Amino acid sequence: MILSWWTHWLHNVIDMDLISHFPLASDLIETKESLANVAYIAAAVLFVLSLAGLSKQTTARRGNLFGIIGMLLAVGATIFGMMTGGYVEMVVAIAAAVVVGAILAVRVPMTGMPELVAMLHSFVGLAAVLVGISSHLQPWIEPLEGEELIHDIEIFVGVFIGAITFTGSIIAFLKLRGTIGGKPLTLPGRHVINLGMIVASVCLGIWFCAEPVDAGEQRMTALLIMTGVASLIGIHIVMAIGGADMPVVVSMLNSYSGWAASAAGFMLKNHLLIATGALVGSSGAILSYIMCSAMNRSFISVILGGFGGGGGGPAAAVEGTVTEFSVGDTVDMLEEAQTIVIVPGYGMAVAQAQHSLAEVVKILAAKNKEVRFAIHPVAGRLPGHMNVLLAEANVPYDIVLEMDEINEDMSTTDAILVIGANDIVNPAALEDPNSPIAGMPVIEVWKASNCVVMKRGMATGYAGVDNPLFYKDNTHMLFGDAKKNVDAILRALQNA
Ligand code: NDP
Repeated sequence: MILSWWTHWLHNVIDMDLISHFPLASDLIETKESLANVAYIAAAVLFVLSLAGLSKQTTARRGNLFGIIGMLLAVGATIFGMMTGGYVEMVVAIAAAVVVGAILAVRVPMTGMPELVAMLHSFVGLAAVLVGISSHLQPWIEPLEGEELIHDIEIFVGVFIGAITFTGSIIAFLKLRGTIGGKPLTLPGRHVINLGMIVASVCLGIWFCAEPVDAGEQRMTALLIMTGVASLIGIHIVMAIGGADMPVVVSMLNSYSGWAASAAGFMLKNHLLIATGALVGSSGAILSYIMCSAMNRSFISVILGGFGGGGGGPAAAVEGTVTEFSVGDTVDMLEEAQTIVIVPGYGMAVAQAQHSLAEVVKILAAKNKEVRFAIHPVAGRLPGHMNVLLAEANVPYDIVLEMDEINEDMSTTDAILVIGANDIVNPAALEDPNSPIAGMPVIEVWKASNCVVMKRGMATGYAGVDNPLFYKDNTHMLFGDAKKNVDAILRALQNA
């Protein structure tokens, strides 16, 4: 019933046939549409500027602002330039979305952002499926003669990508939340299963396109079966990816959601949606490539799944003695050091220790010590997670360095503070070929003279891998909540 209401509403909103019967109204609509198209071009340019701005910390705020203005322009142009009815429903939908969005923005902590992003990707996928099915049930823009096949392919591909994005994102959401464990689901013959489902979808696509337009029931059956098959593909692909490879999944689903939006744009004949979807799709694909390089994985091996779960044999047992440090010992180490590197991880985000940490850095810098941050590309639970937190705490950008820029300096560093990080400083990635994170570049903190790891206990990180770093001679554990311990270090430095 909801689907039929939605289809009917969409049809009324862009009812071109009806409009063409009234010449004066038709002129007005044409003018409004032309203005809307100009606004669409401006919005597309703003989106490009937004992406360019978001690529650097110093311009990120400006980039965000361009994105907001572009989106306001896009929504405004669609409502006032493209719609010819259905305003009440649109206002109600936008008002509800604004309320939900505002509540989420205020309530969701930074640590919950990855789950929120995964959930938002699923909405884009679901929207593409709904637009595709309603476009099939009641096309509001009749395809031109000879273009019916293209229209059918647009619908089919749009629903296919949308369904994969929808279910894949829900599984990613549950994995990031910890509801589903990080271990990859490696069904026997999983690649054959995936291939079989893709072949089945292609066959259903041929059936869908080959049936005459008036064979509505058969076409709908093909479309719905494919939606089910694509949904299973989405679930299976993401279930097969191990915890350590989740960063690639997040960026990959980001890319899929863009292509799903683009496909919806083709179905709705909305050029801005096509362009915006393509921007999101291609930037997500580039991000996936960057994440794969950061983790030394091939993109194909990650999306085929089963990686991030180990190299085949059992991972080497990790044993030894742990040396514990107190807050006082850590302060002494910092006082004695001339060169200091701080490696933040997910635990810093959980503890919200970044503001106190920024104060600690100020004091150490005032004592003429060289203090820098080393950021691993997959630290935290979202690309750029640590950079956002440090920017929020006003840490100067020039002391925040990427792993590649600073890793070489580890052996000449006097003291390292690892704050709530684990997988990204795990030497097993380089030393144990059977480790689930084998081959992933890590920040080589054990090469420094002294290293203090701040965490609450001996628990593993997201990839669920034991960490031999904790047992090295030059590593000392400062147990406890990162915020409490950083606050204690700050007080000690202030009183020194
Ligand atoms: P990890 O998840 O490896 O480790 C975080 C550590 O923080 C834990 O071992 C935990 O230990 C500690 N911790 C948690 N809460 C606190 C607290 N309040 N105070 C102090 N310590 C705390 O994080 P990393 O940043 O090192 O690595 C990121 C991992 O997440 C990688 O495996 C990456 O692949 C994965 N990932 C990254 C994504 C991304 O896009 N960046 C997306 C999805 C996954 P303890 O409980 O003992 O305190």
